[in-house]
Amino acid sequence: MKKLFLLGLAVIASSNLLAQDLYIQAGKLVDTRNGKVLNEKTIIISGERIKSIENGFVEPSNEQDSLIVLKNKTVLPGFTDMHVHMESETNPGEYLERYTNNEADNAFNSIGFARNTLMAGFTTVRDLGGTGVNIALRDAINQGKVDGPRIFTAGKSLATTGGHADPTNGMKNDLMGDPGPKEGVVNSVEDAKKAVRQRYKNGADLIKITATGGVLSVAKSSSNPQFFEEEIEVIVKTAKDYGFHVAAHAHGDEGMQRAVKAGVKTIEHGTLMSEETMELMKKYDAYLVPTITAGKEVTEKAEIEGYYPELVVPKAKEIGPKIQNTFTQAYKKGVPIVFGTDAGVFKHGENAREFVYMVEAGMPAMKAIQSATITPAKILKMESDLGEISQGFYADIIAVDEDPTQNIETLKKVRFVMKEGKIYKSE
Ligand SMILES: [Zn+2]
Repeated sequence: MKKLFLLGLAVIASSNLLAQDLYIQAGKLVDTRNGKVLNEKTIIISGERIKSIENGFVEPSNEQDSLIVLKNKTVLPGFTDMHVHMESETNPGEYLERYTNNEADNAFNSIGFARNTLMAGFTTVRDLGGTGVNIALRDAINQGKVDGPRIFTAGKSLATTGGHADPTNGMKNDLMGDPGPKEGVVNSVEDAKKAVRQRYKNGADLIKITATGGVLSVAKSSSNPQFFEEEIEVIVKTAKDYGFHVAAHAHGDEGMQRAVKAGVKTIEHGTLMSEETMELMKKYDAYLVPTITAGKEVTEKAEIEGYYPELVVPKAKEIGPKIQNTFTQAYKKGVPIVFGTDAGVFKHGENAREFVYMVEAGMPAMKAIQSATITPAKILKMESDLGEISQGFYADIIAVDEDPTQNIETLKKVRFVMKEGKIYKSE
């Protein structure tokens, strides 16, 4: 038996343990399925999956097996962030980068963003829009070329002309052109079908639409509806043929309602959600993805002279501060909620800030943890693979110093990260 206390990746790789079992002795273990914190368990891992969970601290009996001692830690399943942008990260020059960065530059940047996300304990993310680098990044991570979370990606978001994800917003006339469904810009039912099928062809896993205006696009409205009902309906219907669910960015209530009624699965931000829409969300089993962290971040950055373009500043000041309160109202009303932050709008790797804001806004810590584990697994149709430390599930396992139901802040300092049985971090 080999004892691994503070050993990293290199040791695991060089000891050729792939065929052997790995034992983790966990002081506390968060049972996300039952919403309980359990004491003194041993997790036995074989390859990339969890083989069994034993009571107490069990020692490996086989000479070839390895032991990881986390007796003074709380162990949880790796988290899922349902709203990130792996290709970019906020900085004062971000708007200029659209003209100066090549795709290859974005690709190299995304390697660091992916690594920071994984090291923060987020072993799975849903990428809600970039240029397509996010698809290549997903594949590179799956092939073991790059360290990062498991990615489910929308590829490029769908918008209407001048809408929140029109890639030529804010450009001078001769650069604007007339991007069509291939670039994710749709203006009819026919365009909508074509745009979804193009995403399939490009290798996306799901569809993202921008149902209303947004904060960070160089356009006037943060919240007007930007798709007709029939366009969203056909997007959802076409998406279904390819096994895709649809996520809708929405701040304004009208656009949000159209999206929910058309069968969109998740509403991103949901800032100006009315009580009527909250009821609709429950009826249609649509989930709110809160992104409170992004709201806090844009509110703060809007105060820095020149950080955002002039058109963006008033939108950031108006929308940003409202997001956390909407979350509180929606939670009280019983709206289904799944964890998502909009990382990229703030620094990748700070995703766990969202837990603190959710608890601050009235959600019990265990519910916040479940919203980042079992709930996303269900939406991603991975409920037998992700979100639990249970037999047969992927060995996506993280550890923190304290019991997060006693101190939620502890989730911001993840000490141990394993993904599919491979250790990436061990402090
Ligand atoms: Zn976003």
